[in-house]
Amino acid sequence: MTEIIDGDAVAAEIRDELREGIEALADAGERPGLATVLMSDDPASETYVSMKQRDCEEVGIEGVHVELDADAPAEELYDTVEELNDDPDVHGILVQMPVPDHVDDRRVLRSIDPEKDVDGFHPENVGRMVAGDARFKPCTPHGVQKLLEAADVETEGAEAVVVGRSDIVGKPMANLLVQKAPLGNATTTVCHSRTEDLAAHTRRADVVIAAAGVPEMIDGSMLTEGATVIDVGVNRVEADTEKGYELVGDVDFESATGTAGAITPVPGGVGPMTRAMLLYNTVKAASRQSGVAVDLP
Ligand code: NDP
Repeated sequence: MTEIIDGDAVAAEIRDELREGIEALADAGERPGLATVLMSDDPASETYVSMKQRDCEEVGIEGVHVELDADAPAEELYDTVEELNDDPDVHGILVQMPVPDHVDDRRVLRSIDPEKDVDGFHPENVGRMVAGDARFKPCTPHGVQKLLEAADVETEGAEAVVVGRSDIVGKPMANLLVQKAPLGNATTTVCHSRTEDLAAHTRRADVVIAAAGVPEMIDGSMLTEGATVIDVGVNRVEADTEKGYELVGDVDFESATGTAGAITPVPGGVGPMTRAMLLYNTVKAASRQSGVAVDLP
């Protein structure tokens, strides 16, 4: 029997616990605030930002949204970040990526006050995470760790294979898994597009984290019996549905079920966790900036 790890349920529990922290902050006269900044006409980016704002509203975080024309001068975005850095009511800043080509995205990420960098992408926060002293863990890999915890998956001593080495998922995921810390201590291999014989790696893994962005590339034959499979991938593929497409992961769910010991579905696995961990980081940021102690889930 393959256990289906329910990301919606785990995320709901985390949101409930965060509400308690938000109440503790409110008792001390503080309300956590998250600013989202969108400089893009891409409908997917618009949807992501509006979902994040809705999540904030639902748990009692003050959402501030700034929208800039996609063809506005880059300086407008740089200035917006500076203003939000100086705004005491804003504890977390998220600039939705990707930004237009004429904007220097590295400059944007580096200009966010590291104390407000709830995505955890500022080099100072990346460095702290690597050094084992994370201020804000990036939301997706942190969410994956919470799923592993919820499913009672032991990472200590386990063989973990991360497929993908992006700055936002693969690299931080691998880094968290090798930390000498709870939900770490795994013997971790990172695979990518130049890896020869991916299946040879995934087949010996106790834990597979798929984050390549290639629809259903990992099937049951590439897994060992009982492996835990966390599918980060979200891929649109043509389908005979009302919208003309459906979302699938990087794992062929049907073929993996049966071999895997536990698996996350797409949708309903990692996606809701990424959103919940953004709220987590915002509450943590508010707690750090206000000095009001909060119990985090
Ligand atoms: P990127 O495109 O930035 O990175 C993909 C990585 O996968 C790269 O390192 C690439 O290798 C590697 N890769 C690509 N093809 C293969 C292959 N055939 N075999 C092995 N490795 C391969 O993607 P992201 O990390 O941003 O996202 C990955 C997936 O996760 C996407 O589907 C994305 O939509 C999804 N995602 C989901 C989130 C969620 O909350 N559920 C959050 C963020 C992302 P190389 O470096 O050599 O190019």
